[in-house]
Amino acid sequence: MSIIIQKFGGTSVADSEKILAAARRAIRAQSEGHQVVMVVSAMGKYTDRLIELARQISDDPPDREIDMLLATGEQMSVALMAMAVHSLGHRAISLTGAQIGIITDSIHTKARIRSISTERIRKSLDEGNIVIAAGFQGIDEGADITTLGRGGSDTSAVALAAVLGAEVCEIYTDVDGVYTSDPRVVPTARRLELISYDEMLELATAGAGVMHGRAIEFAKKFAVPIHVRSSFSDGPGTMILREPDTTRQSVCGAAMVKDEARVTVLGLPSDPEAAIAVFRRVADANIALDMIVQNETAEGRTDLSFTVLSENLSKTLRAVDAVAKELGAEGCCCDENVSKISVVGHGMAIRPGVAGTMFRALAEKRIDIQLITTSVIKISVAVARQFAQDALRSVHEAFELQSTMSAVATETPHAPAPKKPGSEELLARLERMEKLIIEDIQLDQSQARVTFLGLPETPGLAARTFDRLAEAGVIVDMIVQGKRRGRRVDISVTVPRAQLASTLDAARDISASFDCRLPVHSPKVAKLSVLGVGMRSHAGVAARIFQSLAAAGIKVEMVSTSEVCVNVVVAARDGEKALSTLRNEFADETL
Ligand code: ADP
Ligand code: ASP
Ligand code: MG
Repeated sequence: MSIIIQKFGGTSVADSEKILAAARRAIRAQSEGHQVVMVVSAMGKYTDRLIELARQISDDPPDREIDMLLATGEQMSVALMAMAVHSLGHRAISLTGAQIGIITDSIHTKARIRSISTERIRKSLDEGNIVIAAGFQGIDEGADITTLGRGGSDTSAVALAAVLGAEVCEIYTDVDGVYTSDPRVVPTARRLELISYDEMLELATAGAGVMHGRAIEFAKKFAVPIHVRSSFSDGPGTMILREPDTTRQSVCGAAMVKDEARVTVLGLPSDPEAAIAVFRRVADANIALDMIVQNETAEGRTDLSFTVLSENLSKTLRAVDAVAKELGAEGCCCDENVSKISVVGHGMAIRPGVAGTMFRALAEKRIDIQLITTSVIKISVAVARQFAQDALRSVHEAFELQSTMSAVATETPHAPAPKKPGSEELLARLERMEKLIIEDIQLDQSQARVTFLGLPETPGLAARTFDRLAEAGVIVDMIVQGKRRGRRVDISVTVPRAQLASTLDAARDISASFDCRLPVHSPKVAKLSVLGVGMRSHAGVAARIFQSLAAAGIKVEMVSTSEVCVNVVVAARDGEKALSTLRNEFADETL
């Protein structure tokens, strides 16, 4: 009999009426012939209330006790849900994470799942029960209760779907699907019929809070189809699947992470070991770096900038201050009020002008871009927080996301199931659960690099630059824009080698129009892409890439990181060597 997972978020179980409605939904699915596992979150804002209570008692409560406290929210709602099913005349059993056997590591408040036992769930299902599993929680090897990070019930649900081989994981929430942007911030946002794992993963980490990013990592690893739907209506929702929707335009969504902070280490020795030491120290503090940008400055010194979530800023500064002193850097500074705006979509890799459109939208609002990084399917910029909402709305409008629905048929809510991994592959993946997985490491030697030096930091700078490049028909691949002192910025891009001449022509015009130094370039570079799952949520992947390349004597010229890929650019002559170095470094994690 097929198994269906139904996950209900906080608002979907906020009161007794809603709990009963959710119970009816599960009973309906069971009567249609499925075995049903419900995964339930804490009621309404209960988790927030518990956190607030803890804060009233202590400024710095131990993480172990936070987990002990927060897990009670889900325990309460599963018990009530089981009572609801009973009251409607059906069999149900509620289970905590520990009772199911969701084993995690011991990193309290952001634990990762190591394994899940399916025995008890299967037995209960076979006895005719609807199984009601507490989301968000697990237990470590020492039998301590752990939680998976805010929003983690999504991850519990998809992980259960993976180990049980469920037909679909339904996510019931307070919106009727995944939208082109957060409908609360961008009222014109539209629902998408279909979105790929990679797009959703990038959108989730770019701030689309509708799904927990790690849930999508699981879905991608185990090919679990996810169906995001409203718990209050029966609309078609959104399917999250492996295949991209190639019929739609280049961008599928825009998102914002409001509370980020930019940290810049000034005058770091340009020896690669120095950057590695910084990355290592931050990774050791269990903090994931977000946008990373490095600029060469004069006399063998570089400025290294990156962003972190605001909540991690003080911890990051402690780590970075110490290491900056040890390395003899000139100092370190930060901007606490930064937001990240991103656009995501599979189509952007093949269509010129996507970057230009985004930058122009911001320029028209006179919003300064502080940092730019790109991945194959995402462009992210850091802007001052006061402009963030405006920036998001402008970008959404610039790509006409409100009016261009995907052209996929809408009759059936269930799109075709994605390709499941073979049984051996599945076993290998199950053993790893939430470990880092490297799917491929690719070498691309078809590109050139052009770097604009010391452009004046003015709104509209990036727009003018990329509009001019688009006009010349140049398809820009990687873009990295960093900040340097004195309101000057450097922008590096990679372009197809065949387009180097036209890029340089345009680049000279651009530099002349800003009255600054001529651009520099490498006619041939090697771009390495490390593709996988968990690239950014596992702190330290970038550090390992830098470290292994440095140990092989290879200098990294450009880097960009995203959820599904880390790209580095090195000199062309080092391409093959860098490829084998990285393959070696990640051999244990490669499928
Ligand atoms: P739940 O409690 O069901 O897990 P969440 O609050 O975690 O619900 O997620 C649903 C919310 O996510 C929506 O109310 C919406 O405001 C927000 N959201 C952010 N980005 C998006 C998006 N791209 N599409 C849909 N909803 C989004
Ligand atoms: N109750 C937890 C939270 O509010 C987990 C979740 O809802 O997914 O973060
Ligand atoms: Mg949620």
